[in-house]
Amino acid sequence: MDQPAALLESVNNRIAHAAKVAQRAVSDITLIAVSKTHPAEAIEPLIAAGQRVFGENRVQEAVAKWPALKAAHNGTQLHLIGQLQSSKAEEAVQLFDCIHSLDRSSLIAALGKAMDKAARQVPCFVQVNIGAEEQKGGCAIADLPALLAEARAADVPVIGLMCVPPLGIEPAPFFALLGKLAADNGLAGLSMGMSSDFETAVMLGATHVRVGSALFGARTP
Ligand SMILES: *Cc1c(COP(=O)(O)O)cnc(C)c1O
Repeated sequence: MDQPAALLESVNNRIAHAAKVAQRAVSDITLIAVSKTHPAEAIEPLIAAGQRVFGENRVQEAVAKWPALKAAHNGTQLHLIGQLQSSKAEEAVQLFDCIHSLDRSSLIAALGKAMDKAARQVPCFVQVNIGAEEQKGGCAIADLPALLAEARAADVPVIGLMCVPPLGIEPAPFFALLGKLAADNGLAGLSMGMSSDFETAVMLGATHVRVGSALFGARTP
């Protein structure tokens, strides 16, 4: 097996094992292959190995890479996992199949407008600043109910919550807290877990794990 296919199989096996330990159905977990910074030539082998769902963190980079990849490979899905500026909402709604970084009122308004204009409903996760870190994106836990109500009023479909826990601390308590917030608010989706902690996230209920370096190797900054 070539290396991308072997890495994909290894990550899928680890997800399956964690799901089994947690007595969850592996079909309830979507692996998002985070291809940011990697060129189309690095992405093609993963598509050939069967991967269909990919993630990018920058609209500009995705616009340059993905229209051609999507056209060449039916059924590929693209998720936006990075911060979104309101001025790029229209581009994002046209290209992405899911947005994981809805985190403020102004963006709800911009996405609502963009979805109306494109006649395309793009499911969203609300990103929560789960560790209350000053420098990080995501809405404050206390603001979550109001933000969800605003999204409902604006007809922006929210399917779950997303987080990136603080670096360098055991992530499990943050994953558990995100799960509780989702349950309290009647949301089924949980976007959490990256290369270093996706098995923990799966055991704590993740429905979407976002894995980059474990599939593509280290990114060159
Ligand atoms: C880059 C990124 C990932 C993937 O990170 P790895 O550690 O390479 O798996 C996941 N989520 C977000 C929001 C990212 O920006």
